[in-house]
Amino acid sequence: MSTCMNQPPQKDGQNEALKNQMGRIKQKLLVMSGKGGVGKSTVSVNLALSLAQAGHKVGLLDIDLHGPSIPTLLGMQGQKLMAEADNSIAPIWVSDNLAVVSIGLILENNTDPVIWRGPMKYGMIQQFLRDVRWGDLDVLVVDSPPGTGDEPLAIAEMIGSGARAVLVTTPQDVAVNDVRRSVSFCHALNLEIAGIVENMSGLVCPHCEKIVEVFKTGGGEKLATEMQTAFLGRIPLDPRIVLSGDGGRPFSRDDQSTPAQEAFAAMVTELMSPATSLPETTPVTNDKETDTMKFAIPTAQGKLCMHFGHCEQFTIVEANEADQTIISQEQLTPPPHEPGVLPRWLGEQGANMIIAGGMGQRAQSLFTEQGIQVLVGAPSEAPEDLVKAYMAGKLQPGTNSCDH
Ligand code: ADP
Repeated sequence: MSTCMNQPPQKDGQNEALKNQMGRIKQKLLVMSGKGGVGKSTVSVNLALSLAQAGHKVGLLDIDLHGPSIPTLLGMQGQKLMAEADNSIAPIWVSDNLAVVSIGLILENNTDPVIWRGPMKYGMIQQFLRDVRWGDLDVLVVDSPPGTGDEPLAIAEMIGSGARAVLVTTPQDVAVNDVRRSVSFCHALNLEIAGIVENMSGLVCPHCEKIVEVFKTGGGEKLATEMQTAFLGRIPLDPRIVLSGDGGRPFSRDDQSTPAQEAFAAMVTELMSPATSLPETTPVTNDKETDTMKFAIPTAQGKLCMHFGHCEQFTIVEANEADQTIISQEQLTPPPHEPGVLPRWLGEQGANMIIAGGMGQRAQSLFTEQGIQVLVGAPSEAPEDLVKAYMAGKLQPGTNSCDH
């Protein structure tokens, strides 16, 4: 494999290429989870296979940098991706209408731990999104890294508008709480949520095929209702899923009809139905009865200050989303810096959303936990202009200018 796959991120013309590439894909589904081990890769593979079986032309992209398991799940060990003369990457077609690209298909040894430095990760993600020659696709399913850190953030930012998140959880409370954080993460990034999947929900009895409720189930559905997103279905625990995954022959390929296969088929119908499959990018809205939102913008000399942690003032802009007007604007000086003080203080000011140039992941999580959404990558412009651009749907998340 050529060394081009480890180049640092590039801008401008390269971004144009990324946009063109993404423009050839009708639907982009980012399969995400709040933590590892909940079945995100299992869902990605079987969703991609079920979409292909339903006749769609599908790409499956595994960018779980630290645990790429798609090659194992699809029995592709030993196969390698090749870079073309023009540095593009040819995907591996596993059937007429399903192409696969995985970080695991470039590693010398799939079991080696991979240490990626920040810019390398970003560059790798960018190359995978920009340089793979999928051609025209109906759907790209992306197996994203777990959590709400830099990697899923970079993927969500680079993949651009029109992508939707499929959030995978298990029924237990702790996993559901993790997915709650993923929901806030999607809101902060303006990433539409296609729905929530509850995996390992009940156990398929090997004797009678009925589903036995081993743990408490229904957490994912409850969460979907609470978060006002679609519930995409329950996948039961089925020992055949482990066996077929380890054997590199995913269960969706088998002819036999199982509860899990049926759940995936129903998920495909839901995801591809015209009512839900062509999203419009809508700005994040608050859930208060009124249309009023309070934006907090770190400011220096009348403009957004790019270094969130070092700004001396915040401009609080109150605006009406319905008629896109600004109601009031004031400058406030935050209390002296100490850990956790800003989320609390901005919460007390009634802020619903922070518009920032850059912000570290930890700080973003603290704000989202406080119920304050965060949009990063905004330019250094006057606060009222940024709020107006946001309400008009013209302010999209950009590159996090300072992510430490
Ligand atoms: P993640 O990508 O979230 O880390 P994986 O998809 O790799 O998780 O799944 C973790 C393990 O759980 C794998 O061994 C997989 O076969 C198993 N698994 C996932 N979903 C199910 C299920 N519904 N029934 C049985 N085993 C499952």
